[in-house]
Amino acid sequence: MAKKRQFKTEVQRLLDLVIHSLYSNKEIFLRELLSNASDAIDRARFEALQDESILENDPEWKIKITTDNDAHTLTISDNGIGMTADEVEKNIGTVANSGTKRFLEQLQESKEKLPPELIGQFGVGFYSAFMVADKVTVITRRAGDVASAVRWESTGDGYYTLEGCEREKRGTDVILHLRDEHLEYLEEWMIRKIVKKYSDFVEHPICMDIRREEVERDEEGKEIEGGEKKVSITEETLNSRKAIWLRPKAEISEENYHDFYKHISHDFEKPFEVIHWNVEGQVEFKALVFIPQRPALDLFMPETKNRGLQLYVHRVFITDNCEELLPSYLRFLRGVVDSSDLPLNVSREMLQEAKALKIIRKNISKKVLDVLAEIKEKKIERYTAFWQAFGKILKEGLHLDFENRERLQELLLFETSNTDAGKFSSLAEYVQRMPETQKDIYYLTAEDRRAAENSPQLEAFRSKGYEVVFMLDPIDEWIVNDIGTYKDKKLTCISKGDVDLDSEEEKKTKEEARKQAAAENKDLLACLSDILKDKVKEVRLSKRLTESACCLVSDEYSMGVQMEKILKAMQQDVPATKRILELNPTHPLLAVLRQLHAQDSQHPKLTEYATLLYEQALLMAQLPLEDPLAFAKRISALMTEEGKNLSSK
Ligand code: ADP
Repeated sequence: MAKKRQFKTEVQRLLDLVIHSLYSNKEIFLRELLSNASDAIDRARFEALQDESILENDPEWKIKITTDNDAHTLTISDNGIGMTADEVEKNIGTVANSGTKRFLEQLQESKEKLPPELIGQFGVGFYSAFMVADKVTVITRRAGDVASAVRWESTGDGYYTLEGCEREKRGTDVILHLRDEHLEYLEEWMIRKIVKKYSDFVEHPICMDIRREEVERDEEGKEIEGGEKKVSITEETLNSRKAIWLRPKAEISEENYHDFYKHISHDFEKPFEVIHWNVEGQVEFKALVFIPQRPALDLFMPETKNRGLQLYVHRVFITDNCEELLPSYLRFLRGVVDSSDLPLNVSREMLQEAKALKIIRKNISKKVLDVLAEIKEKKIERYTAFWQAFGKILKEGLHLDFENRERLQELLLFETSNTDAGKFSSLAEYVQRMPETQKDIYYLTAEDRRAAENSPQLEAFRSKGYEVVFMLDPIDEWIVNDIGTYKDKKLTCISKGDVDLDSEEEKKTKEEARKQAAAENKDLLACLSDILKDKVKEVRLSKRLTESACCLVSDEYSMGVQMEKILKAMQQDVPATKRILELNPTHPLLAVLRQLHAQDSQHPKLTEYATLLYEQALLMAQLPLEDPLAFAKRISALMTEEGKNLSSK
C-alpha cells in the first residue's frame, strides 16, 4: 500500500509559486529535469571510480526521453545514481535550503507578486515539472542497491505517496502526466527544439526513439496507392554533447554562453559577465566563469558551501563542492574549470593537498579581479550595479586574500559626505579630491546614510571642507583594519580618539582660547565625570563639535559603536565599553552648567543634566538608552519647569 504523506509547508508554497507565477517560460521544466538526470549520472560515474559494482554491468551512461500519446505522458529516464526512499523524501519532500525558506516567508508576508527573475534564484528544479503536469510519478532505484526501488507520486496538491516497487536497472524515471493544455510537449519537434536550446552541451547523450512511417514505393520510387506503410523506430541522440568550455571562443555565440550559464546556475537571467580563458604552462586548465547579475538567495547564509565552480578533469565531472578552487569571497561566481593536471580518481583529501588546485585558484582570483577592474575603468555604471549586488561579499577578500589586497582596494566603492545618497566614490577618487592640508582618509561607520549625515562628529569636518567616507555595511568595521592605509594615507575613524583638524598655525592662534576654556571648565568637567563615572570613561571638551552640544567617542583602540551593535545583534557577549563624552565648548549650554556649578557644586540639577547629556549622546549614536522610562520622565520634568517659567513671565 502506498503511504500518503504531506509536503512540508514550504514545499507546498514553493509549488504554488511555481505553478502560478512562472507562466512565461514553462518549457524550462525540461531543462531542469535533464539537468537533474545529468547530475545523477555524473554522481554515479564518480562513485563508480571507487566502486565498480554500482555499474551493474550497464556502463553506458544515457538519458532517455519517452512519449506516450495515448497516456499523455512524457518520461525522462536516466541510468544515474538513483535515490533510496529516504533520499526521495529528503530531496523532493522538503526545501533543504534555509535561504529559500526565509525568502518564501518574506514573500508570503509582503503578498507581492513575485518578479519572474527572482524565481530563478532558487533552483526550482524538480518542482518545475508541475508547471506542465497535473501529476508527476518518480520511479527510482539507488545504484548498487537492487531491493530499494521506490515509487513517488504527487498531484502537487499538498500530498504525495511513497511505496516500494521494482526497477530492474539503476536510475530514475520522472513521468509527467501532462495537462491537456500542454500536450505540445509530446511533439518530437518541440522536444528537439528545447533540448537543442538549453541542453545541447549536456555531456551525456539525451536520446529519443524517433518514429518514421514510410509508404511503399514502386521501382521508380513512386508511392504505391493503398500500399503498406512501414514503420521504423530509430533511437537518435538529440544533443551535440560538445563541452562548451573546451570549444574555441570564436565558435561560441553569446546565446550559447547564456544558455549554458542558465543550465548550470538555474538562473533565469543571463549572466552579468562571461569570462572564458585557457591557461597553459605550469598547470593547464580551461575555465568558463560567470558573474551572475544578482546574488542567489543563499549566498549570505553562513551555512552555504562553496558551490560556485564545478571541477572537471578531462571532461569528467568531479565535484561542485571544492573549496580549494575558489576563495570564499568569490563564492558568487558560477562556472566550470577543467584541468588535465589532476588524476581522475582524485579524492577529497587529495584535493586539499593538490598543488595544481592552488595555482588554479590563484589564477582564477586574479583573472576575475582584473576583469572587474577593467569594467570599473571603462563602465563605472555597470560596475556600480555589480558592486551593489556583490560588493559586500567581495570586501571579505580584504581580510582573506593578502596577495590581492591592493587589487581589491581599487575595487572598493563607498558613499561619502560629498556623494549624493546611493552614489559611490572609489578611494582613489577620494584621495584625488583631498585638499593639501588633509593628511588622513577620514571615515565614519554608521547604520545608514541618514545616521552618518546627522552624526555630530561630522560637524568639524564639514566646516573644514574635509570629505568623510561613509562606511555603512556591517562588514566595513572589520575590513577597515585590513585596509589600514591606502596609498600611504592612514584610514582614520572620526568618532575615535582625539581628532584635531587644525593646522599648526591655527593651533597657535587658538591656543589661548583653548587654555582658557580648559581652565574655566576644569571643575565642571571633573564634577560631570564624577557623576557619570559608571557610564563613561571621561567627560572632556571637544575639538570636533561645532553645532551639537555633545557626542560620544571611542578610544582610538577600543571597539567602535557599530561593531558593538553588530556583536550584540549576534548575541555575542560584549564586554562593556566605556566611551568618552565630549562637550562642545562653544555651546551656550556649557555656560549654563558652569553657572549652576559655581552656584552650588552639589546642585541636584547637575546630576539630572549630566544624565540627560549622556542620554542625548547615546541617542545620536543610535545606541539604546539604559532606562528609557527615566529619560522620558526627565524630559517631561524639564518641559514642565520651562513651561512654568514661560507662563510666569
Ligand atoms: P537541485 O537540482 O537544484 O538540487 P531539484 O529540486 O531539481 O533541486 O532536485 C532536488 C534533489 O533531488 C537533487 O539535488 C537530487 O539530489 C535529487 N534528484 C532530482 N532528480 C534526480 C535524478 N534524476 N536522479 C537522482 N537524484 C535526483
